[in-house]
Amino acid sequence: MKLTVIGCGYLGATHAACMAELGHDVLGVDVDADKIARLSVGEVPFFEPGLSDLLRRNIDAGRLAFTTSYPAAAEHGSIHFIGVGTPQQARGLGADTTYVEAAVDTLVGHLRGDHLIIGKSTVPVGTAAALQARIDARTDDDTTVELAWSPEFLREGFAVEDTLRPDRLVVGTDPDAQCSAAVAVIDEIYREILETGVPFITTDWATAELVKTSANAFLATKISFINAISELCEIVGADVSTLADAIGHDNRIGRRFLNAGMGFGGGCLPKDIRAFMARADELGAHRTLGFLHEVDAINMRRRTAMVELVERVCRRELIGANIAILGAAFKPESDDVRDSPALSVAGQLALRGATVTVFDPKAADNARRMYPMLHFADSARTAVAAADVVAVTTEWAEFVHMGPDELDPLVRERVIVDGRRCLAPHIWAAAGWEYHALGGVNRS
Ligand code: NAD
Repeated sequence: MKLTVIGCGYLGATHAACMAELGHDVLGVDVDADKIARLSVGEVPFFEPGLSDLLRRNIDAGRLAFTTSYPAAAEHGSIHFIGVGTPQQARGLGADTTYVEAAVDTLVGHLRGDHLIIGKSTVPVGTAAALQARIDARTDDDTTVELAWSPEFLREGFAVEDTLRPDRLVVGTDPDAQCSAAVAVIDEIYREILETGVPFITTDWATAELVKTSANAFLATKISFINAISELCEIVGADVSTLADAIGHDNRIGRRFLNAGMGFGGGCLPKDIRAFMARADELGAHRTLGFLHEVDAINMRRRTAMVELVERVCRRELIGANIAILGAAFKPESDDVRDSPALSVAGQLALRGATVTVFDPKAADNARRMYPMLHFADSARTAVAAADVVAVTTEWAEFVHMGPDELDPLVRERVIVDGRRCLAPHIWAAAGWEYHALGGVNRS
Protein backbone atom coordinates (compact mmCIF):
# COMPACT_ATOMS: atom_id res chain seq x y z
CA MET A 1 0.00 0.00 0.00
CA LYS A 2 1.18 3.55 -0.66
CA LEU A 3 1.37 5.56 2.54
CA THR A 4 2.64 8.99 3.55
CA VAL A 5 3.77 9.90 7.05
CA ILE A 6 3.64 13.62 7.78
CA GLY A 7 5.98 14.78 10.54
CA CYS A 8 9.23 12.79 10.79
CA GLY A 9 10.32 13.24 14.39
CA TYR A 10 10.64 10.46 16.98
CA LEU A 11 7.16 9.17 16.18
CA GLY A 12 6.96 9.82 12.45
CA ALA A 13 10.41 8.65 11.35
CA THR A 14 9.95 5.43 13.32
CA HIS A 15 6.45 4.94 11.96
CA ALA A 16 7.58 5.54 8.37
CA ALA A 17 10.44 3.03 8.64
CA CYS A 18 8.23 0.43 10.35
CA MET A 19 5.45 0.78 7.76
CA ALA A 20 8.07 0.24 5.03
CA GLU A 21 9.33 -2.79 6.95
CA LEU A 22 5.80 -4.19 6.73
CA GLY A 23 6.17 -3.97 2.94
CA HIS A 24 4.38 -0.69 2.25
CA ASP A 25 5.65 2.00 -0.12
CA VAL A 26 6.19 4.96 2.24
CA LEU A 27 6.92 8.64 1.72
CA GLY A 28 7.90 10.62 4.83
CA VAL A 29 7.17 14.36 4.83
CA ASP A 30 8.53 17.06 7.11
CA VAL A 31 8.91 20.85 6.96
CA ASP A 32 12.44 20.56 8.40
CA ALA A 33 14.63 20.37 5.28
CA ASP A 34 17.73 19.40 7.26
CA LYS A 35 15.93 16.47 8.88
CA ILE A 36 14.63 15.30 5.50
CA ALA A 37 18.10 15.55 3.94
CA ARG A 38 19.53 13.35 6.70
CA LEU A 39 16.70 10.83 6.67
CA SER A 40 16.93 10.58 2.86
CA VAL A 41 20.49 9.28 3.11
CA GLY A 42 19.56 6.85 5.88
CA GLU A 43 20.77 8.94 8.80
CA VAL A 44 18.50 9.06 11.86
CA PRO A 45 18.58 12.62 13.27
CA PHE A 46 18.09 11.32 16.82
CA PHE A 47 19.11 8.23 18.80
CA GLU A 48 16.72 5.31 18.70
CA PRO A 49 18.00 1.74 19.01
CA GLY A 50 17.50 -0.32 15.84
CA LEU A 51 16.04 2.50 13.78
CA SER A 52 19.12 3.23 11.72
CA ASP A 53 19.31 -0.32 10.28
CA LEU A 54 15.61 -0.38 9.55
CA LEU A 55 15.77 2.99 7.81
CA ARG A 56 18.72 2.07 5.60
CA ARG A 57 17.36 -1.35 4.73
CA ASN A 58 14.04 0.07 3.55
CA ILE A 59 15.55 3.01 1.68
CA ASP A 60 17.86 0.56 -0.13
CA ALA A 61 14.89 -1.68 -0.94
CA GLY A 62 13.15 1.32 -2.56
CA ARG A 63 10.22 1.20 -0.13
CA LEU A 64 11.03 4.37 1.80
CA ALA A 65 11.77 7.94 0.73
CA PHE A 66 11.50 11.40 2.29
CA THR A 67 10.46 14.82 1.01
CA THR A 68 9.51 18.31 2.10
CA SER A 69 6.94 18.50 -0.71
CA TYR A 70 3.25 18.33 0.14
CA PRO A 71 2.24 18.08 -3.55
CA ALA A 72 4.47 14.98 -3.74
CA ALA A 73 2.71 13.59 -0.66
CA ALA A 74 -0.70 14.20 -2.20
CA GLU A 75 0.38 12.41 -5.36
CA HIS A 76 2.10 9.53 -3.62
CA GLY A 77 -1.09 7.84 -2.46
CA SER A 78 -4.40 8.18 -0.69
CA ILE A 79 -3.51 7.22 2.91
CA HIS A 80 -1.74 9.81 5.05
CA PHE A 81 -0.57 9.45 8.65
CA ILE A 82 -0.10 12.62 10.71
CA GLY A 83 2.63 12.52 13.38
CA VAL A 84 3.60 16.16 13.87
CA GLY A 85 4.28 17.60 17.32
CA THR A 86 1.67 18.79 19.83
CA PRO A 87 3.82 20.57 22.44
CA GLN A 88 2.57 22.48 25.45
CA GLN A 89 1.30 25.91 24.47
CA ALA A 90 3.82 28.70 24.97
CA ARG A 91 1.39 30.48 27.32
CA GLY A 92 -0.77 27.89 28.99
CA LEU A 93 -1.13 24.27 29.96
CA GLY A 94 -3.07 23.18 26.88
CA ALA A 95 -1.67 21.37 23.84
CA ASP A 96 -0.61 23.49 20.90
CA THR A 97 -2.46 21.82 18.02
CA THR A 98 -1.44 24.40 15.41
CA TYR A 99 1.14 22.03 13.85
CA VAL A 100 -1.54 19.38 13.32
CA GLU A 101 -3.91 21.97 11.85
CA ALA A 102 -1.18 23.35 9.57
CA ALA A 103 -0.21 19.87 8.35
CA VAL A 104 -3.83 18.91 7.64
CA ASP A 105 -4.64 22.26 5.96
CA THR A 106 -1.60 22.08 3.71
CA LEU A 107 -2.16 18.47 2.77
CA VAL A 108 -5.88 18.86 2.10
CA GLY A 109 -5.15 21.80 -0.19
CA HIS A 110 -3.41 19.38 -2.55
CA LEU A 111 -5.79 16.41 -2.38
CA ARG A 112 -8.15 15.32 -5.17
CA GLY A 113 -10.38 12.22 -5.06
CA ASP A 114 -10.83 9.92 -2.06
CA HIS A 115 -8.30 10.04 0.77
CA LEU A 116 -7.92 8.82 4.33
CA ILE A 117 -5.98 10.79 6.95
CA ILE A 118 -4.98 8.84 10.06
CA GLY A 119 -3.94 11.06 12.97
CA LYS A 120 -1.30 9.60 15.29
CA SER A 121 -0.24 12.68 17.27
CA THR A 122 -1.48 12.96 20.85
CA VAL A 123 -4.32 15.48 20.80
CA PRO A 124 -6.96 16.82 23.20
CA VAL A 125 -10.34 15.11 22.98
CA GLY A 126 -12.47 16.85 20.35
CA THR A 127 -9.57 17.59 18.01
CA ALA A 128 -10.50 14.99 15.38
CA ALA A 129 -14.10 16.20 15.17
CA ALA A 130 -12.91 19.80 14.77
CA LEU A 131 -10.37 18.77 12.14
CA GLN A 132 -12.93 16.82 10.11
CA ALA A 133 -15.14 19.94 10.01
CA ARG A 134 -12.11 21.97 8.93
CA ILE A 135 -11.31 19.43 6.21
CA ASP A 136 -14.89 19.35 4.94
CA ALA A 137 -14.88 23.15 4.69
CA ARG A 138 -11.76 23.01 2.53
CA THR A 139 -12.71 20.25 0.10
CA ASP A 140 -14.98 20.48 -2.93
CA ASP A 141 -17.50 18.00 -4.31
CA ASP A 142 -15.02 15.78 -6.17
CA THR A 143 -12.84 15.25 -3.09
CA THR A 144 -13.66 13.19 -0.01
CA VAL A 145 -11.27 13.09 2.91
CA GLU A 146 -12.07 10.84 5.86
CA LEU A 147 -10.26 11.34 9.15
CA ALA A 148 -9.48 8.56 11.64
CA TRP A 149 -7.50 8.84 14.87
CA SER A 150 -5.10 6.08 15.85
CA PRO A 151 -3.04 7.24 18.84
CA GLU A 152 0.54 6.07 19.20
CA PHE A 153 1.82 4.34 22.35
CA LEU A 154 5.48 3.81 21.46
CA ARG A 155 8.18 4.39 24.07
CA GLU A 156 11.39 6.12 23.07
CA GLY A 157 14.19 3.60 23.41
CA PHE A 158 11.82 0.80 22.31
CA ALA A 159 10.13 2.67 19.46
CA VAL A 160 10.77 0.11 16.71
CA GLU A 161 9.75 -2.83 18.87
CA ASP A 162 6.64 -0.99 20.09
CA THR A 163 5.57 -0.02 16.57
CA LEU A 164 6.04 -3.49 15.08
CA ARG A 165 4.78 -5.36 18.15
CA PRO A 166 2.34 -3.01 19.88
CA ASP A 167 0.29 -4.02 22.94
CA ARG A 168 -2.82 -2.90 21.05
CA LEU A 169 -3.99 -0.85 18.08
CA VAL A 170 -6.72 1.71 18.64
CA VAL A 171 -8.64 3.43 15.86
CA GLY A 172 -11.33 6.04 16.28
CA THR A 173 -13.63 7.12 13.48
CA ASP A 174 -16.52 9.54 13.01
CA PRO A 175 -19.39 8.12 15.11
CA ASP A 176 -21.93 9.75 12.77
CA ALA A 177 -20.41 8.60 9.48
CA GLN A 178 -22.80 6.70 7.19
CA CYS A 179 -20.05 4.49 5.87
CA SER A 180 -16.42 4.46 6.96
CA ALA A 181 -13.65 2.92 4.93
CA ALA A 182 -11.07 3.65 7.61
CA VAL A 183 -11.26 0.51 9.74
CA ALA A 184 -10.95 -1.85 6.76
CA VAL A 185 -8.02 0.15 5.36
CA ILE A 186 -6.21 0.25 8.70
CA ASP A 187 -6.87 -3.47 9.14
CA GLU A 188 -5.13 -4.03 5.81
CA ILE A 189 -2.18 -1.74 6.63
CA TYR A 190 -1.49 -3.58 9.89
CA ARG A 191 -2.52 -7.08 8.71
CA GLU A 192 0.86 -8.65 9.47
CA ILE A 193 0.79 -7.22 12.99
CA LEU A 194 -2.87 -8.06 13.62
CA GLU A 195 -2.34 -11.66 12.52
CA THR A 196 -0.06 -12.10 15.53
CA GLY A 197 -3.09 -11.55 17.77
CA VAL A 198 -2.55 -7.90 18.70
CA PRO A 199 -5.88 -6.53 20.05
CA PHE A 200 -7.53 -4.16 17.54
CA ILE A 201 -9.88 -1.72 19.23
CA THR A 202 -12.18 0.22 16.93
CA THR A 203 -14.15 3.04 18.43
CA ASP A 204 -15.22 6.65 17.96
CA TRP A 205 -12.85 9.63 17.71
CA ALA A 206 -13.38 10.89 21.27
CA THR A 207 -12.75 7.50 22.86
CA ALA A 208 -9.57 6.97 20.82
CA GLU A 209 -8.25 10.41 21.78
CA LEU A 210 -9.09 9.79 25.45
CA VAL A 211 -7.45 6.33 25.45
CA LYS A 212 -4.08 7.93 24.82
CA THR A 213 -4.32 10.79 27.29
CA SER A 214 -5.85 8.51 29.95
CA ALA A 215 -3.04 5.97 29.53
CA ASN A 216 -0.40 8.67 30.00
CA ALA A 217 -2.27 10.19 32.95
CA PHE A 218 -2.39 6.75 34.60
CA LEU A 219 1.33 6.13 34.09
CA ALA A 220 2.23 9.59 35.41
CA THR A 221 -0.02 9.01 38.43
CA LYS A 222 1.67 5.68 39.19
CA ILE A 223 5.10 7.34 39.16
CA SER A 224 3.99 10.25 41.33
CA PHE A 225 2.22 7.86 43.69
CA ILE A 226 5.44 6.03 44.51
CA ASN A 227 7.36 9.30 44.70
CA ALA A 228 4.83 10.65 47.21
CA ILE A 229 5.24 7.45 49.24
CA SER A 230 9.02 7.94 49.03
CA GLU A 231 8.65 11.35 50.70
CA LEU A 232 7.03 9.57 53.63
CA CYS A 233 9.64 6.81 53.56
CA GLU A 234 12.34 9.45 53.89
CA ILE A 235 10.73 10.81 57.06
CA VAL A 236 10.38 7.44 58.79
CA GLY A 237 13.52 5.75 57.42
CA ALA A 238 11.64 3.17 55.33
CA ASP A 239 12.94 1.77 52.04
CA VAL A 240 10.66 2.74 49.15
CA SER A 241 12.38 0.30 46.75
CA THR A 242 11.55 -2.69 48.94
CA LEU A 243 8.07 -1.29 49.47
CA ALA A 244 7.59 -1.02 45.67
CA ASP A 245 8.73 -4.62 45.23
CA ALA A 246 6.32 -5.76 47.89
CA ILE A 247 3.26 -3.92 46.62
CA GLY A 248 4.24 -4.68 43.02
CA HIS A 249 3.92 -8.43 43.66
CA ASP A 250 0.19 -7.83 43.87
CA ASN A 251 -0.74 -8.27 40.24
CA ARG A 252 -3.60 -5.83 40.57
CA ILE A 253 -0.87 -3.22 41.12
CA GLY A 254 2.17 -4.55 39.20
CA ARG A 255 5.79 -3.51 39.72
CA ARG A 256 6.33 -1.46 36.55
CA PHE A 257 6.31 2.34 36.80
CA LEU A 258 6.85 2.11 40.55
CA ASN A 259 10.46 3.26 40.59
CA ALA A 260 10.86 6.15 42.98
CA GLY A 261 13.44 8.78 42.11
CA MET A 262 13.63 11.94 40.06
CA GLY A 263 10.25 11.47 38.39
CA PHE A 264 9.10 11.63 34.81
CA GLY A 265 10.01 14.01 32.00
CA GLY A 266 10.37 13.96 28.24
CA GLY A 267 8.25 15.19 25.37
CA CYS A 268 5.07 13.32 26.39
CA LEU A 269 4.01 12.68 30.00
CA PRO A 270 4.47 16.19 31.45
CA LYS A 271 2.80 18.04 28.59
CA ASP A 272 0.14 15.38 28.10
CA ILE A 273 -1.15 15.49 31.68
CA ARG A 274 -1.21 19.30 31.53
CA ALA A 275 -3.08 19.28 28.24
CA PHE A 276 -5.52 16.74 29.71
CA MET A 277 -6.25 19.02 32.69
CA ALA A 278 -6.60 22.05 30.43
CA ARG A 279 -9.04 20.24 28.16
CA ALA A 280 -11.12 19.02 31.09
CA ASP A 281 -11.36 22.64 32.27
CA GLU A 282 -12.46 23.78 28.82
CA LEU A 283 -15.15 21.11 28.88
CA GLY A 284 -16.45 22.43 32.23
CA ALA A 285 -15.16 19.40 34.20
CA HIS A 286 -13.16 21.67 36.48
CA ARG A 287 -12.58 19.28 39.40
CA THR A 288 -12.49 16.02 37.49
CA LEU A 289 -8.76 15.91 36.81
CA GLY A 290 -7.72 18.03 39.79
CA PHE A 291 -5.63 15.13 41.08
CA LEU A 292 -3.35 15.53 38.06
CA HIS A 293 -2.26 18.92 39.42
CA GLU A 294 -0.96 17.02 42.44
CA VAL A 295 0.66 14.38 40.20
CA ASP A 296 2.46 17.20 38.37
CA ALA A 297 3.44 18.98 41.61
CA ILE A 298 4.83 15.80 43.23
CA ASN A 299 6.82 15.18 40.06
CA MET A 300 8.34 18.65 39.92
CA ARG A 301 9.17 18.47 43.67
CA ARG A 302 11.46 15.50 42.99
CA ARG A 303 13.80 17.68 40.95
CA THR A 304 14.11 20.21 43.78
CA ALA A 305 14.55 17.35 46.28
CA MET A 306 17.46 16.03 44.21
CA VAL A 307 19.12 19.46 44.07
CA GLU A 308 18.70 19.84 47.84
CA LEU A 309 20.06 16.36 48.52
CA VAL A 310 23.17 17.06 46.45
CA GLU A 311 23.65 20.38 48.24
CA ARG A 312 23.15 18.77 51.67
CA VAL A 313 25.66 15.95 51.18
CA CYS A 314 28.27 18.04 49.42
CA ARG A 315 31.14 18.56 51.86
CA ARG A 316 31.75 22.11 50.71
CA GLU A 317 29.51 25.00 49.69
CA LEU A 318 28.00 24.64 46.25
CA ILE A 319 29.85 27.77 45.19
CA GLY A 320 33.22 26.33 44.33
CA ALA A 321 32.04 22.70 44.36
CA ASN A 322 32.41 20.38 41.37
CA ILE A 323 29.32 18.31 40.69
CA ALA A 324 29.38 15.49 38.14
CA ILE A 325 26.01 14.79 36.59
CA LEU A 326 25.78 11.37 34.96
CA GLY A 327 22.89 11.47 32.52
CA ALA A 328 21.15 14.24 30.58
CA ALA A 329 18.45 12.36 28.67
CA PHE A 330 15.02 12.10 30.30
CA LYS A 331 15.50 8.34 30.29
CA PRO A 332 18.08 5.80 29.15
CA GLU A 333 18.29 4.60 25.53
CA SER A 334 17.15 8.01 24.30
CA ASP A 335 18.84 11.29 23.36
CA ASP A 336 15.66 13.22 24.14
CA VAL A 337 16.23 16.05 26.63
CA ARG A 338 12.78 17.64 26.40
CA ASP A 339 11.74 18.48 29.98
CA SER A 340 14.50 16.22 31.28
CA PRO A 341 14.66 15.97 35.10
CA ALA A 342 18.42 15.34 34.79
CA LEU A 343 19.04 18.62 33.00
CA SER A 344 16.68 20.50 35.24
CA VAL A 345 18.73 19.33 38.26
CA ALA A 346 22.02 20.13 36.51
CA GLY A 347 20.75 23.61 35.61
CA GLN A 348 19.50 24.35 39.14
CA LEU A 349 22.84 23.28 40.68
CA ALA A 350 24.68 25.54 38.24
CA LEU A 351 22.37 28.43 39.17
CA ARG A 352 23.26 27.82 42.84
CA GLY A 353 26.93 28.34 42.01
CA ALA A 354 28.26 24.82 41.48
CA THR A 355 30.55 23.94 38.61
CA VAL A 356 28.48 21.28 36.89
CA THR A 357 29.92 18.80 34.43
CA VAL A 358 27.49 16.56 32.57
CA PHE A 359 28.10 13.34 30.73
CA ASP A 360 25.51 11.47 28.71
CA PRO A 361 26.32 8.67 26.24
CA LYS A 362 23.86 9.97 23.60
CA ALA A 363 22.17 13.20 24.63
CA ALA A 364 25.12 15.58 25.09
CA ASP A 365 24.59 17.52 21.85
CA ASN A 366 20.90 18.12 22.54
CA ALA A 367 21.69 18.99 26.15
CA ARG A 368 24.41 21.48 25.20
CA ARG A 369 21.99 23.32 22.91
CA MET A 370 19.46 23.62 25.72
CA TYR A 371 21.85 24.41 28.62
CA PRO A 372 24.96 26.08 27.18
CA MET A 373 26.08 27.21 30.66
CA LEU A 374 26.86 23.64 31.74
CA HIS A 375 30.14 21.86 31.06
CA PHE A 376 30.01 18.66 29.07
CA ALA A 377 32.48 15.79 29.28
CA ASP A 378 33.03 13.07 26.72
CA SER A 379 33.08 10.23 29.26
CA ALA A 380 31.91 9.47 32.78
CA ARG A 381 35.55 9.36 33.87
CA THR A 382 36.19 12.91 32.61
CA ALA A 383 32.95 14.18 34.14
CA VAL A 384 33.86 12.96 37.63
CA ALA A 385 37.37 14.46 37.65
CA ALA A 386 37.82 16.29 40.98
CA ALA A 387 34.10 15.92 41.73
CA ASP A 388 32.80 16.68 45.20
CA VAL A 389 29.59 14.81 44.43
CA VAL A 390 28.81 12.32 41.67
CA ALA A 391 25.06 12.39 40.87
CA VAL A 392 23.43 9.67 38.78
CA THR A 393 20.48 11.33 37.06
CA THR A 394 19.63 8.94 34.18
CA GLU A 395 19.85 5.17 34.64
CA TRP A 396 21.97 4.34 31.59
CA ALA A 397 23.34 0.77 31.88
CA GLU A 398 26.91 2.06 31.85
CA PHE A 399 26.24 4.04 35.03
CA VAL A 400 24.33 1.22 36.69
CA HIS A 401 27.27 -1.15 36.10
CA MET A 402 29.99 1.38 36.88
CA GLY A 403 32.18 0.30 39.81
CA PRO A 404 33.48 2.56 42.60
CA ASP A 405 37.08 1.53 41.93
CA GLU A 406 36.85 3.08 38.43
CA LEU A 407 36.02 6.46 39.97
CA ASP A 408 38.06 6.27 43.19
CA PRO A 409 41.28 7.81 41.86
CA LEU A 410 39.45 10.55 39.95
CA VAL A 411 37.06 12.23 42.38
CA ARG A 412 37.85 14.77 45.10
CA GLU A 413 35.30 13.28 47.52
CA ARG A 414 33.81 9.80 47.47
CA VAL A 415 30.17 10.90 47.64
CA ILE A 416 27.55 9.52 45.27
CA VAL A 417 23.88 10.50 44.97
CA ASP A 418 21.65 7.97 43.26
CA GLY A 419 18.80 10.00 41.78
CA ARG A 420 17.28 6.94 40.13
CA ARG A 421 17.82 4.38 42.90
CA CYS A 422 19.52 2.22 40.28
CA LEU A 423 22.89 1.48 41.95
CA ALA A 424 23.79 -1.29 44.39
CA PRO A 425 24.34 0.69 47.63
CA HIS A 426 26.30 -2.03 49.44
CA ILE A 427 28.97 -2.08 46.68
CA TRP A 428 29.55 1.64 47.04
CA ALA A 429 29.47 1.56 50.82
CA ALA A 430 31.89 -1.39 50.91
CA ALA A 431 34.31 0.60 48.77
CA GLY A 432 34.27 3.45 51.29
CA TRP A 433 31.88 5.73 49.43
CA GLU A 434 29.13 7.75 51.04
CA TYR A 435 26.02 6.57 49.18
CA HIS A 436 22.76 8.56 49.18
CA ALA A 437 19.56 7.63 47.37
CA LEU A 438 16.86 10.12 46.49
CA GLY A 439 13.74 8.99 48.33
CA GLY A 440 15.51 7.77 51.44
CA VAL A 441 17.39 4.63 52.40
CA ASN A 442 17.98 1.99 49.77
CA ARG A 443 18.72 -1.43 51.24
CA SER A 444 18.52 -3.31 47.95
P1 NAD B 1 9.04 15.63 17.28
O1 NAD B 1 9.15 17.04 17.70
O2 NAD B 1 10.20 14.70 17.41
O3 NAD B 1 8.57 15.55 15.76
C1 NAD B 1 7.58 16.37 15.21
C2 NAD B 1 7.95 16.60 13.75
O4 NAD B 1 6.88 17.26 13.07
C3 NAD B 1 9.19 17.49 13.56
O5 NAD B 1 10.15 16.83 12.77
C4 NAD B 1 8.64 18.73 12.87
O6 NAD B 1 9.56 19.33 11.98
C5 NAD B 1 7.46 18.15 12.14
N1 NAD B 1 6.44 19.12 11.71
C6 NAD B 1 5.94 20.18 12.41
N2 NAD B 1 5.03 20.83 11.67
C7 NAD B 1 4.93 20.16 10.49
C8 NAD B 1 4.15 20.35 9.31
N3 NAD B 1 3.24 21.32 9.22
N4 NAD B 1 4.32 19.47 8.29
C9 NAD B 1 5.22 18.47 8.37
N5 NAD B 1 5.98 18.26 9.46
C10 NAD B 1 5.84 19.09 10.51
O7 NAD B 1 7.79 15.04 18.11
P2 NAD B 1 7.46 13.50 18.43
O8 NAD B 1 8.09 13.11 19.72
O9 NAD B 1 7.67 12.67 17.23
O10 NAD B 1 5.90 13.62 18.74
C11 NAD B 1 4.97 13.78 17.71
C12 NAD B 1 3.58 13.48 18.28
O11 NAD B 1 3.53 12.11 18.70
C13 NAD B 1 3.21 14.30 19.50
O12 NAD B 1 1.83 14.54 19.48
C14 NAD B 1 3.56 13.37 20.65
O13 NAD B 1 2.83 13.67 21.82
C15 NAD B 1 3.16 12.04 20.06
N6 NAD B 1 3.82 10.88 20.64
C16 NAD B 1 5.17 10.90 20.81
C17 NAD B 1 5.78 9.79 21.36
C18 NAD B 1 7.26 9.80 21.66
O14 NAD B 1 7.72 8.92 22.41
N7 NAD B 1 8.04 10.72 21.13
C19 NAD B 1 5.03 8.66 21.73
C20 NAD B 1 3.67 8.66 21.48
C21 NAD B 1 3.06 9.78 20.95
